[in-house]
Amino acid sequence: MTTLDDLPLRSELKGRSPYGAPQLDVEVRLNTNENPYSLPEPVAEAVEQALAAVLRDLNRYPDREAEALRADLAAYLGAATGHDGLTGANLWAANGSNEVQQQLLQVFGGPGHLAMGFSPSYSMHEILAAGTGTQWHDAQRGADFALRPESASSLVRVYQPDIVFLCSPNNPTGTALDLEVIESVAREAPGVVVVDEAYGEFAREGTPSAVTLLPKYPRLIVTRTMSKAFAFAGVRLGYLAADPAVVQAVQLVRLPYHLSALTQAAARAALANSPLLLAQVEAIKTERDRIVAGLRALDLTVADSDANFVLFATPTRDQQATWQALLDRSVLVRDVGLPGWLRVTAGTHDETTWFLEAMAEVVADQRNAAPKETVTVGQEKSSDES
Ligand SMILES: *Cc1c(COP(=O)(O)O)cnc(C)c1O
Repeated sequence: MTTLDDLPLRSELKGRSPYGAPQLDVEVRLNTNENPYSLPEPVAEAVEQALAAVLRDLNRYPDREAEALRADLAAYLGAATGHDGLTGANLWAANGSNEVQQQLLQVFGGPGHLAMGFSPSYSMHEILAAGTGTQWHDAQRGADFALRPESASSLVRVYQPDIVFLCSPNNPTGTALDLEVIESVAREAPGVVVVDEAYGEFAREGTPSAVTLLPKYPRLIVTRTMSKAFAFAGVRLGYLAADPAVVQAVQLVRLPYHLSALTQAAARAALANSPLLLAQVEAIKTERDRIVAGLRALDLTVADSDANFVLFATPTRDQQATWQALLDRSVLVRDVGLPGWLRVTAGTHDETTWFLEAMAEVVADQRNAAPKETVTVGQEKSSDES
């Protein structure tokens, strides 16, 4: 049998494994930041009608440049971020924001070019770089996962990347970036700056979007998605907002008719109902805040979150033990490979309750077990006395 090792793979792909989280059959699935709610019935019906309306034209190719969808996206994004100058010429859409980012790497990266990100962050950025033959530089965030304007821009000055990836709110930490960080990077960067705002709709009150900076920085690109806030992950619709010249550049590499007529119709129907869909975002934010408070009440360190997930420190450095203990209670969370940390997605109210109750048990178990390994006899005595 032939294996991967026998194939003449490009060297940068050798030894890699495909991106993905385990898909296990559990009661409470909180590992991929999906929206826990299915589409509200009126939205599902609107999508159904929109799909029915295009079915009889499927012998034809779709609108190649998705003009109507891009105009709808501009209207939605302008209203959501308070940038009223956006038109369809500023927007571009593809099958998920991952595809948008791949297209950006095809345009601005490739062999002999460098992309850079600040880890821990979304690991797909690096995987997309590898897939397009773009070199990758991983700059590290500090212990508090924040980025500061001066340190971020000085790293850009040193490495001179063709593409900088920023992620705000950042996956997996939940941290939103101050606009000063984005501006200082945009001023310094010799190439383009991509701000991945996949979780933008979940940001807390008063967290501005990088979309508001677009008029000032023509090489700034903001990517967004309908996968999370819009409960539309199965449709695959992501988009970018940028200067119209960036959109023209992406059109040089996109496959002709990359976005199916079905996808375009479904996305337009959902956008027409965005207020209904975004009502669920508020419910998810409430559960997100409940997770933060609930875990802090267990005396765990928890990163502030502007997203639909929470990164928390496990009771011991061995986060795999906590991951397994939760799985034993039929809760699936994400081990993102950060020693001592796990990421949990905000679920429905009941799912969140299940998770918090499971965590209370796991923490109690681990704290009961811990002194036997780590505390000396003398310390044990003194704590008994107090
Ligand atoms: C989930 C996620 C996306 C979404 O990708 P799609 O291809 O739009 O589904 C993009 N960026 C980040 C940081 C994410 O976590």
